[in-house]
Amino acid sequence: AHPVYGRIDGPIVIIGFGSIGKGTWPLIERHFDFDADKLTVIEPNPAAATFLRQHKLKHLQVALTQENYREVLGELFAEGRGFCVNLSVDTSSLDIMTYCRELGVLYIDTVVEPWAGYYFGETDNAARTNYALRQAVQDEKARNPGGTTAISCCGANPGMVSWFVKEALMRLATDMGRDAAMPADRGGWARLMQSLGVKGIHIAERDTQARRVPKPRGTFVNTWSVEGFISEGFQPAELGWGTHETWFPENGHRHETGCQAGIWLERPGAITRVHTWCPTPGPQFGFLVTHNEAISISDYYTVGQGAQPEFRPTCHYAYHPSDDAVLSLHEMFGSGRQQTKHHILTEDEIVEGIDELGVLLYGHAMNALWYGSRLSNEEARDLVPYQNATGLQVSSAVLAGMVWALENPQAGIVETDEMDHLRCLEVQRPYLGPVEAHYTDWTPLQDRWTQFPEDIDESDPWQFRNVLAS
Ligand code: NAD
Repeated sequence: AHPVYGRIDGPIVIIGFGSIGKGTWPLIERHFDFDADKLTVIEPNPAAATFLRQHKLKHLQVALTQENYREVLGELFAEGRGFCVNLSVDTSSLDIMTYCRELGVLYIDTVVEPWAGYYFGETDNAARTNYALRQAVQDEKARNPGGTTAISCCGANPGMVSWFVKEALMRLATDMGRDAAMPADRGGWARLMQSLGVKGIHIAERDTQARRVPKPRGTFVNTWSVEGFISEGFQPAELGWGTHETWFPENGHRHETGCQAGIWLERPGAITRVHTWCPTPGPQFGFLVTHNEAISISDYYTVGQGAQPEFRPTCHYAYHPSDDAVLSLHEMFGSGRQQTKHHILTEDEIVEGIDELGVLLYGHAMNALWYGSRLSNEEARDLVPYQNATGLQVSSAVLAGMVWALENPQAGIVETDEMDHLRCLEVQRPYLGPVEAHYTDWTPLQDRWTQFPEDIDESDPWQFRNVLAS
């Protein structure tokens, strides 16, 4: 029997019924007690209608916009309680979270998403960064501390990986023979990371899920939102910028305001390659796609503050998506136009592969530790319906976040770094397949070609200068 984690009183509204919404719904069904007739799915795509009807789910076929969201949500949440689960693209996380908190409705999302149009607008690139999107949420948190819980960015990454960082730090402390008492607050965690000698973290992911047929030309194929991936891939590459860095990229920019934990590069993330490492492939290229966690983790583990702290880790995504998605990016950026056909690989058509998603803590005395989930599609399919391995790593994090919110309903706006990682992983772990720790002696200076000169720093393997591929 599956544990029921609590009762959700009042309406539940799922915004967006794409790959993640459809996968999160069975977990909500399984793990919460609620009134079935109070669950509504807001989904503009008519293609979802049949499934929703067959499963007796209330369907509001409308796209939320800046103009209508108060009216639509105000009506659904008229009783002033309940849970808003935002799993859509093109809706402002900040606006919806703010309104839910006004209403006294719990809120969770998996990304700080803006209203439609933001990602491809002609605004300057600094404004199109995740730093800017995150900072707006942090500013709202500072203006209105406490109050109804709203969890920002609680998917796999951003989300679960922040919980992995903490488990990995404890693992590292134990393996280094340190006193492994768990820190009790943010300052303690930051000091622990600093004292262990961690210089930085890759969110190191390899997705090997594949189907039998080759990628058709003109179709963007991915294992999760195509729209979401194109949007973030077209944002500038971004990373949390650590205090160990001695070099600064020529196309790099700092921020004048806010936490100042991150920098951005004048180049789309999805064509910016980095040298990284995962257990299955060993060394590999990943894409430096911008992600909220790159900034939030660097910020959370900062000792000191501002542009010149005492300690801060470098942190960024190093993503090798499914091979079909790599080809899709290649095709899209090469042609200068988006494919008109989008396809998300379903659990039924995938014939092999796993999503290996973890955190690579590097630069310390034991060189590097990868800690993460190695969930296969085959296992995912056996655990919960309607999703592949990628989807389940995300939806199970949403589940964990919802449980935490129910148990901590007045925590205000929080990021996953600030949540009880032990409780969250306790809820999530049954859905993650093998969660493993792997040490490696690989560094970004290894396995390069000596025949071609490169702009690298051989005196210090873990400089971002060496990680960034030329
Ligand atoms: P998807 O593209 O499969 O589905 C998104 C759904 O939102 C679609 O069904 C679409 O019709 C709907 N939608 C579009 N505009 C809308 C609007 N204005 N109002 C309501 N619904 C609207 O995407 P997905 O794979 O399900 O991902 C959903 C979100 O989760 C995306 O924002 C994505 O970036 C995010 N995500 C986060 C993580 C993570 O680990 N943190 C992982 C995967 C996806």
